[in-house]
Formats: sequence, structure tokens, C-alpha cells
Amino acid sequence: MALSVLRNIGKGHFESATSGGSPRGFLKSATIMIVGVYRMAQEKIRECWTRDIGSYGFKEFKDMVEKFHGYSAPGVLIGGYMVEAAKKRMPEGTQFEVIVETRKCLPDAVQLLTPCTTGNNWMRVVNLGRYALAMYEKHSGQGVRVAIDSDRLKEWPHIRAWLLKLLPKRLQDPERLLDEIEKAGDSILSIADVCVHPDYLGKLSMGKIDICPVCREAYPQTDGPVCKGCQGDAPYIDTAAANPMMQKCMGEKPAQTPH
Ligand SMILES: [Zn+2]
Repeated sequence: MALSVLRNIGKGHFESATSGGSPRGFLKSATIMIVGVYRMAQEKIRECWTRDIGSYGFKEFKDMVEKFHGYSAPGVLIGGYMVEAAKKRMPEGTQFEVIVETRKCLPDAVQLLTPCTTGNNWMRVVNLGRYALAMYEKHSGQGVRVAIDSDRLKEWPHIRAWLLKLLPKRLQDPERLLDEIEKAGDSILSIADVCVHPDYLGKLSMGKIDICPVCREAYPQTDGPVCKGCQGDAPYIDTAAANPMMQKCMGEKPAQTPH
């Protein structure tokens, strides 16, 4: 928005300058005007900066992340600011859902700070490999997309190095990184209005359910005559054959039959 304001102001001055005033005078007044508006815009952004993550202080949220995620991952901490920036822009009482564009860290910030989880399917991961999320009204798809603005990372070398993977882990300074994350707060984010494609709205239906003739487990009929696991998509190897220890273990403990 600030940019479009600047463009319009620049344009207005150019038009008035070409219809009479001296070019040097125009340039000077345009520069002063643009710098003035830019400073005002910057100050407005600065006023809005926050180091809190919603109703949580940074330290409090860091503790929550440690418990939930296993350690205070920088991505979940920045993600906290991202989620809260999106929540702040949802009209009161909106039933919202979330699309996360990466599998890394960010989904956990959503699960910590909203009722949206992978389990209830109010959060979907559409893995585009970008550190961004969209929060939107669940029926209309109207909402906002929040991303990390790489242009705003010049002041924050540790965050930049983390995001762009510029340093091997052993050379990273976790304390300074977390310190930068707290100081930067939500000032490093860019936010834009989005409308989610109808294909991503509404409930995901499994369709009709059948019993697989091979494994005797329930599965969606649309997957084929047998379940995906029995079609060879199961992520398991034949452990008994591959691992002698397992073979021994299974030999000693016969499989229990379920009651
Ligand atoms: Zn099966």
C-alpha cells in the first residue's frame, strides 16, 4: 500500500512539474515528499510491531514450543508471529482454516495457536516449499497470506542465514538467532489478501468404505479393489526377513490374537 501511495504521489508531482515548475524544484520537492511519506509509512509499521505472540510473551511461547515441538525451533517461533499476524486480520467470529506451504516447523505453530490441526483437517499442508501460510474463511476462501519478507531481513543477519541456510548448523549461533527473532517480532513479515481456490475448500470426503480382501482392514473404495497398503504402498519392509534381531524377537514372542 505504501508503495502505491508513493507511486501516486510521484506521478502527481511529475504531472504538475511538467505543466510549469522547474525540473530541479520538482525533483527536490518530490524527493522531500517521498522521503516524508516513506518515513511516515515506516513509523506506522514500527508502531504496529509486536514482540508478543498473541497473548503470550516470547519466553512463554518459547516454553510452549519446547514442550510441543521438542525444542525451541526458530521456525516455530517465527511461525508464531505469522499465525498471530493472520489471526489479527480475521474478522471477529470467522470460522477459519489454514493452508501451510511447508511441512517444516510452521504447521506446529498453527497447531499451537489455533484450533486447526492436521487431524481435524482444518489445516492442510500444500507443500510449495515456501515459508508461508494462508488463513481464510472456510466457506468463501477469503483471507490473508503471511510470508517472511526476504527484503526486510537485511537488518537481521541471523534470521536471514537461517532462512536461506547460509551457514552449517555448527556455525549457527542459536542464542543470537532467537534474540533476533524476538526483536524483529512481526516486522519481517509480508501480508497480502488471498482467495483460496474452491478445490481446497470444504470437507475432504473419503467416499464409500470397504473391507480390503487381503488385510481385512477398512479402506476407501476409491483406492481400488484392495487397499493402498496391499497394493504395495505401505512404507514397511519385511522386518522379519531383513532384521535377524526382529526375527528372533518374533520367534520368541508369538503374535497375540486380538480379542
Ligand atoms: Zn489391505
